[in-house]
Amino acid sequence: MSDTGMPTGLEERYRAVCENIARAARHAGRDPQSVQLVIASKTQSADAIEALIRLGHRVFGENRVQEAYSKWPDLKQRYPDVLLHLIGPLQTNKAREAVRLFDVIETVDREKLGRALAAEEARENRRLRYMLEVNVGAEEQKSGISPGNAAELLSVCRDQLQLTVEGLMCIPPAGEQASPYFALLRKLAGELGLPKLSMGMTADYPLAIQLGATHVRIGTAIFGERKP
Ligand SMILES: *Cc1c(COP(=O)(O)O)cnc(C)c1O
Repeated sequence: MSDTGMPTGLEERYRAVCENIARAARHAGRDPQSVQLVIASKTQSADAIEALIRLGHRVFGENRVQEAYSKWPDLKQRYPDVLLHLIGPLQTNKAREAVRLFDVIETVDREKLGRALAAEEARENRRLRYMLEVNVGAEEQKSGISPGNAAELLSVCRDQLQLTVEGLMCIPPAGEQASPYFALLRKLAGELGLPKLSMGMTADYPLAIQLGATHVRIGTAIFGERKP
């Protein structure tokens, strides 16, 4: 921590990532404003997050509902214009807590979860925005709907349950070239008429932007390596 309360190097790393995002967008012939940085703040302290909010950043992503509750009710009360994305898998029995705290849930991947979210929206009188998580690598252990079943899930969630589904999200298989998976997600979103694409993390966000990402989820490049 420096004496301003800003963790060492955080502001510089944040600004460098913003610059890289803008550069990648311009390089792809896109408006830098068309790419939203979602700061992945899992395991990070409320103080480090607040430092970024004070720099003017407003969009964050958390992986776990319970961890988010340990930091965000207080931060959201003090900074009501912050938008919180859920970027980790959601259990149906946590749908109520998720609907109360989050603004965007990026990881809808099954009908049962869609139904639980729709029921909680009605009960809480709160509307969120959603993305469908797609298991682009067809990895057995990974969450996400398979690409071939995405159209049906969209139809149930959007048309039947009236959830505001705006896009697709993916986490490509680790250790592989990500570009074919990013291209697959973009193609699928085009076919489904969904405008938003959440793809790209520290290792590959310039590539994701080149391939159409509208949301990049970045943690390590901003906070440094996560403590285990
Ligand atoms: C942690 C996480 C990120 C950010 O990963 P980094 O490599 O630290 O940038 C992005 N998306 C999801 C779903 C994550 O869990």
